[in-house]
Amino acid sequence: MPRPPKRVHAEAKEEQVQADQLPEGSAAEDVEAFTNQAFRNVVGATRAANAFPQGTARALYLSYPGYARVMDDLSQRVVGLIGNVLQAKEIKGDIKKRQLEEQFEMVQECNDILFERITTNLDIKSGLRRNPQQVVEAQVDVMSSSTAGEPSVASPQTQETPKAGSWNRTTGTPQRSMVSARLFTAKNIVRPQTQFKEPVDNSGQTPFVPRLKEKPNSLKPLALLPEYDDAGNIVSYLHPYEFELLKFQPPAQQLQKQKPVLPELMANTELLVVDTVEKLQQALEELRQATQIAIDVEHHSYRTFMGITCLVQMSTRNKDYIFDTLILRDEMHILNLVLTDPKKLKILHGADLDIEWLQRDLSLYIVNMFDTHRAAKALNMARLSLAFLLKNYLDLDVDKSLQLADWRMRPLPQQLVDYARQDTHFLIYVYERMTNDLLQQQAEPGLLGSVYQLSTDVCKKRYNKPHIGPESHMDLVRKTKRSFDNRQLYALRGIFEWRDATARSEDESYGYVLPNHMMLQIAESLPREMQGILACCNPIPPLVRQQLHTLHQIVLKARDQPLVKPILEARSSTQASLPPSTKDFSSKLYCPHDFSHQEETRDDLPTLLKRSSATGKLELPREEDVPKEDQLIATPAMALFDKPAKPTPEEEQRWAHLRKESQTLRMPYKRYLAILPLMEQLKEDQNARERSELLKRRLCPAAPEPEQNIKLEGHTIKQEEDAMYSVPLKEQLKRKHQTNGKTDADQQPTTSKRSRKDENTKPRVKPEPPVKKEPAEVVHQVPGESDDEVVEVPIERQATEPPKPPPAQSKKQQKRKQFQRGFKAKNRGNHPQSSSQHITHPKAEGNFDYKNVDFRQFKGGAQRARGTEIKQNIRGKNRPNNRNNKQFNKLFTFSNVKKDGKK
Ligand code: AMP
Ligand code: MN
Ligand code: ZN
Repeated sequence: MPRPPKRVHAEAKEEQVQADQLPEGSAAEDVEAFTNQAFRNVVGATRAANAFPQGTARALYLSYPGYARVMDDLSQRVVGLIGNVLQAKEIKGDIKKRQLEEQFEMVQECNDILFERITTNLDIKSGLRRNPQQVVEAQVDVMSSSTAGEPSVASPQTQETPKAGSWNRTTGTPQRSMVSARLFTAKNIVRPQTQFKEPVDNSGQTPFVPRLKEKPNSLKPLALLPEYDDAGNIVSYLHPYEFELLKFQPPAQQLQKQKPVLPELMANTELLVVDTVEKLQQALEELRQATQIAIDVEHHSYRTFMGITCLVQMSTRNKDYIFDTLILRDEMHILNLVLTDPKKLKILHGADLDIEWLQRDLSLYIVNMFDTHRAAKALNMARLSLAFLLKNYLDLDVDKSLQLADWRMRPLPQQLVDYARQDTHFLIYVYERMTNDLLQQQAEPGLLGSVYQLSTDVCKKRYNKPHIGPESHMDLVRKTKRSFDNRQLYALRGIFEWRDATARSEDESYGYVLPNHMMLQIAESLPREMQGILACCNPIPPLVRQQLHTLHQIVLKARDQPLVKPILEARSSTQASLPPSTKDFSSKLYCPHDFSHQEETRDDLPTLLKRSSATGKLELPREEDVPKEDQLIATPAMALFDKPAKPTPEEEQRWAHLRKESQTLRMPYKRYLAILPLMEQLKEDQNARERSELLKRRLCPAAPEPEQNIKLEGHTIKQEEDAMYSVPLKEQLKRKHQTNGKTDADQQPTTSKRSRKDENTKPRVKPEPPVKKEPAEVVHQVPGESDDEVVEVPIERQATEPPKPPPAQSKKQQKRKQFQRGFKAKNRGNHPQSSSQHITHPKAEGNFDYKNVDFRQFKGGAQRARGTEIKQNIRGKNRPNNRNNKQFNKLFTFSNVKKDGKK
């Protein structure tokens, strides 16, 4: 389908010609006619291309050698034509020799170039040529969270690690983690990098190298002193003014009380916009006369990897200067003459990043600085922003909303000039007032000195290139509070590395290449299709579109990773894991059935399938056995909030009480205290049961039960007791209630050791069946059909007997009693098989009671059986070959027996 691109090209080219050549008047009309014709052509071409046989039909057609030959010739020709276009657009490589994917990429690249040209032409047409910079202004909400970062926002990577020249957060003031800002930018801004005489070195392998060639005001001559790591690699270079800063002492005059002089209004102050070398020389001469210079820097960090210093503002007492540092990037260093002069005071506000930017781009260093931000901190001021200081000392309300302006704009709009100016214009006055304030803090005599010390420390800062390590992406994960499995992390790491490499090579910021939230979205959803990657991005970053194939490969590779156990991120317990971002259901990405990347398939979860006793295969349950959806599976165990239809006053009271109870917060210790009597009671009950059982046995010696049974029974009960401890108090009380309702005689023998001893002492007892080590074997030994019941999971039984509505409580109890009687009778009769018979009895007794089945288990929850839920789990698990399940089944079987025996 290579035709449309070619068309586009043709149009673009022609359009450009038209735009350039057409006389002003007729242009609009002709362009419209031309566009209409072009659209018709495109539609025709697309239709023709679509008319070709496709899919299997195509394969069939191609099997005719004649057709195949013609098609081949034609496509060769088309590709050749495209190749010519590409060549004309200086796109590297021969399209004929490339793979299909690459061919598409080349065409795409060509399209991008052409579209850009179209845009330019349109701009030219709309009269923007003389002023190609079209200022765009918009109000934007810049969140301080990691979600900030639409490509249209000037500095979106503020939250990223590493920071690529991101704005100064250490000097950040409350306002700086701001909410609303004015987006002030322009279309068609020329990339300043293209004009740099010395190209930037974004490589992560090499450290930043100071480019200082002369060192005015030096105490030690200029030397590039490298620092090495353990492996002997140069990791950084010492600060060229390290020694001078070490020796620096603020001049005595600066440590004295100042006489603050209110600055002239900006309108009455001379401004020198320094954009030529001559003006720079002039500015230098003037600055040399000043003893105090206020300085500020404006920076751009979006369409660049490391950042670009766009503007330097300076103010003396009577003049403001704005240096165009895009133009004077390689000349600004001559200002070191004043900036490193220890006798001249430089005043900055929150200079941490300014210092780095100045040295990185302009080789400018500062010796003798007063940082008004540090001073505000030392003075314990309510807020530390420059805006606050200006309000405080000058009662000025300045608008800082243009912080996010695109400072690369040239010519600089007047608004930005004024804005930039106000950052330094009042700063000398602020410094004087602050110095006096600092000196007035009698409690701390050295406060002013300490501010100078802190400011000097800031001057010692060295610029370091952004650097990522193998674990850098994890910082992001930690911040998002989402949990990622290993595949998602694999993808994230891959994409993170791709983004880093791309940002460096294209000299763009991370935010421009791929904002964090989009990157996380891709890694989280692991789209199977390329389209899915695009669907994660809105708007789609140009480089993502361009390198979609590469990104897709990363995602596919991640999807291929075997899923290991979920990564539990080490985070503070208070930091709950947030659910994954809300899904956009209309998105192509949202595919509710594609959990393949999230969950390992598990085959050991409970199902409604029945294992056939004959074949050992799983069989579908009969339809009538499957509980209907609308059928109430079980009445709630506790109808706490179920107000009776006509409550008696008594009920009403009880209900209110329970309700109150349920809403009362009980501290763990209180709970413990509350439960103590209950536990005592339970123990007593158990002892009583044991005693009564002992008595019964003495009175009528029962057939010996297999030892394992007893053991397991005891174990089960123990489990139940354990479980009892872990259920809520309410439930415990309720259960206790139930237990108390039964007579002791209703209780089954619970243990074990004593009765066993008992039996051993009884000579009348028939020889026990051979003791098996594996209780399961006992189970299999049971003759006849009982086999099924013994290992059973309720469902199995259910398969042969359709469910009946659960009998009323009283009936059930009756039945229980009935069974109990039968059981006792059998025991009395000393049947050799009695043990197995009483086990089989439940089958005869009737239906499986679905009330006892916890159907939550059938939803495939992977929760481990615990506490009270143990039985339900056991019931759900019907996998004899699973060791755990085997154990559970045993437990279940015997606890069931016990339970049924109770009936
Ligand atoms: P300032 O010191 O306020 O003049 O800010 C200097 C530079 O820091 C600006 O040119 C911006 O590039 C950058 N900057 C300041 N504030 C922010 C912010 N809130 N977000 C991103 N960048 C900022
Ligand atoms: Mn600043
Ligand atoms: Zn500024």
